[in-house]
Amino acid sequence: MSTTRIPLVDLKAQYHGIQDEIDSAIRRVLENTNFILGKEVADFERDFAAYCGVKNAVGVASGTAALMLALDVAGVGPGDEVITTPLTFFATAEAISRLGARPVFADIDPRTFDIEPELVEEACTPRTKAIVPVHLYGMPAEMGALSDIAMRRGLWLIEDAAQAHGAFYRDERAGSMGDMAAFSFYPGKNLGAYGDGGAVTTNDDGLANVLRQIRNHGRKEKYVHEMIGFGERLDAIQAAVLSVKLRHLDDWVLRRRKLAARYRELLKDAGVGFQDEMVHIRSSYHLFVIRVPERDRVLRMLHDRGIGAGVHYPVPLHLQPAYRHLGYKPGDFPEAERAAAEVLSLPIYPEMTDEQQDRVVEALLEALAEVRNE
Ligand SMILES: *Cc1c(COP(=O)(O)O)cnc(C)c1O
Repeated sequence: MSTTRIPLVDLKAQYHGIQDEIDSAIRRVLENTNFILGKEVADFERDFAAYCGVKNAVGVASGTAALMLALDVAGVGPGDEVITTPLTFFATAEAISRLGARPVFADIDPRTFDIEPELVEEACTPRTKAIVPVHLYGMPAEMGALSDIAMRRGLWLIEDAAQAHGAFYRDERAGSMGDMAAFSFYPGKNLGAYGDGGAVTTNDDGLANVLRQIRNHGRKEKYVHEMIGFGERLDAIQAAVLSVKLRHLDDWVLRRRKLAARYRELLKDAGVGFQDEMVHIRSSYHLFVIRVPERDRVLRMLHDRGIGAGVHYPVPLHLQPAYRHLGYKPGDFPEAERAAAEVLSLPIYPEMTDEQQDRVVEALLEALAEVRNE
């Protein structure tokens, strides 16, 4: 049995699988020297929009920029509240705060780890302007109920789809259900660039036009600035790389789903908790997350055995030092706090072999036996 390390994600293996396609795409951009926006970006935007089943995709500099621009176009600003989940990457709330609005958290459903619609309803006030559900680990949030709330109350619904490229809610792709959706192409995401990148998707042509302008300094023509924008463009090398990878995305998501099913089978008697799979939802398995007892010890033991496990996320956002001023305290969101203490992300990536997965499972079972025998 091999004893090499098993990483959380293996971008080198992915590159080696598609090296010729990637190298020639990058060389094409180097030769045509059209490095910012241009045809490469427009081509990728068209293909990514088609993939998501939406009319428009607007390429931007990162997932964080995608969130910020979407919220900005929705008119979110000082005095507004935006409801989101406390169990997510910091950028989800950071974008809200950066626009001068207040993130208001609503606890998760412990079965899916995604925001609980009933608690979203309870968190609404007259100042609520938008809801930002996160499709955590690739598992779409309960968009039916969330759309109802948004519609009834006249709120914007903006998906944080940064982890959910290729996931489905019923027969709709993640990124096609809200007024807008934010995607990240951070290298480790299911569709990852070789640097930073992101996109906003929307079926609204008017919003898409404004997004295209504000990502590029509010420009209409080169020296005519019609509004105050941002410098948050997607660059052509990243777009060329993403166009190549997009052709493989469905195969990669399928392999992730196979690995996830195999983890569930191999760990069914291990006494660990899973992210529940609802019949109407198909996760893209950006991450495969379980709940374990004594998580930090299990994590250390896995690292000692060469397994690159991770934690997403150890500190819920309402308890982050940067959000002290919001006045939240431990116990405010018990399910998110419990999850933060228990979750463990196991390695999952399309190039992972069954044999590598067996080694992860074996190491995990050993670690669990050790923490239980004391
Ligand atoms: C990765 C991520 C982001 C931020 O994306 P960047 O491209 O790193 O700026 C936002 N939200 C979630 C849920 C993420 O996983």
